[in-house]
Amino acid sequence: MSEELLVIGGGIGGLAAALAARRAGWEARLFEQAETFSEVGAGIQLGPNVTRILREWELLQGGLARQVVAPPRLRVRDGSDGDELGVLELGDTIARRYGAPYLTVHRADLQSALLAAAQEAGTRIHPGSRAEAVEQAGKVVQLRTTRGKLVEGDALVAADGVWSQLRAAVVTDGGPQPTGHLAYRGLARQQDLPAALRSDEVTVWLAPRMHLVTYPLRGGEWLNAVCVVQGTQPGDPRDWDHAASQAQLEASLGPVCGEVRERVAAMPTWRLWVLHDRPPVASPEAMARGRVALLGDAAHPMRPYLAQGAGMAIEDARELQRVLSVADDRTVEVTTALRRYALNRWERVARVQGRSQRNGTIFHATGPLRMARNAAMAVGGTRLLDQ
Ligand code: FAD
Repeated sequence: MSEELLVIGGGIGGLAAALAARRAGWEARLFEQAETFSEVGAGIQLGPNVTRILREWELLQGGLARQVVAPPRLRVRDGSDGDELGVLELGDTIARRYGAPYLTVHRADLQSALLAAAQEAGTRIHPGSRAEAVEQAGKVVQLRTTRGKLVEGDALVAADGVWSQLRAAVVTDGGPQPTGHLAYRGLARQQDLPAALRSDEVTVWLAPRMHLVTYPLRGGEWLNAVCVVQGTQPGDPRDWDHAASQAQLEASLGPVCGEVRERVAAMPTWRLWVLHDRPPVASPEAMARGRVALLGDAAHPMRPYLAQGAGMAIEDARELQRVLSVADDRTVEVTTALRRYALNRWERVARVQGRSQRNGTIFHATGPLRMARNAAMAVGGTRLLDQ
């Protein structure tokens, strides 16, 4: 009989992990606390580091191929006066350079495609099952769910998101901290927008203490907007879907140009979530212990300024596939395999976490830093934001 992986969390990370385990020849069981897989969320950007993996997993064919968009370029503008700061060619240019495309996708569409692929590959999915506790005993991992069930597996991956409860089975370092940033998201049908606001590009406006990103979704029919401002929000900090008013967002914008205000005014509704994160992963021990590994936001929550949150979760899953494909406790111990996973991932994800945090500072810069940013981008295009 094959080894069995227990996966906690049915977000993009958990579903990718379950699919990866099946592709490695393991059995996979996935436990998601929600009764149904949520439609909540909006756009996600996927760089070639991620689309290469999705293509290998045959996910860029079929339904998802019609939903993703390959924007031709990314344009960066100063949100105070609208001046263009830099342009990065995406489309064919990036696909040729990296051998895989740059795509945008609705989170729910990617989640549905991963769910279908994981199920077709034979993953047993348990919606409405919240993981409560995990224990390691000898060569098994025991999981207790809220339904009082005790489940055993050969290894467990906690992909239970930024508020991960199971993280404590690997590392005890307290909860995530608020970043002081609020992310508002809006979605509009392009046909309902004034012609000047419709776009097939990724556009980023950078202004003091805020930025706005727009890009097309769902075959280009929709325009996604994410506006990040600095502030606080009462209510449950874990909620991804706070109701938010346009007036509330407009009041937080500060001195921005008409282009930014028009786009904020054009979105029919805004929802918001309060951004939380952790310091970058400090060692491999913070990603795996014995037969339990952390994956995605549970391991390394990302600020959204490098658009790599979902990407790092999918990269984690691909590495998991590699290590599990040779692990069976007879040739390579499962604990050794998960240790390898952590060793091969921690520096990469820590670097991307650090770069995402740094980009937040650059995006929202004021005073001399803002002037230095704009001068650097005039010379080097968007490279400043990538490194
Ligand atoms: P998550 O996407 O957070 O998934 C974690 C999953 O684990 C959730 O389904 C959660 O219900 C489940 N879970 C948590 N605790 C338990 C438990 N104890 N037992 C069982 N299941 C549990 N990113 C964007 O860039 N744009 C968006 O619009 C956006 N919207 C989002 C909406 C929602 C509802 C969520 C949960 C996340 C959203 N994200 C969004 C974040 C993005 O999906 C993640 O940053 C990234 O994909 C990494 O995903 P993850 O699987 O590690 O974590």
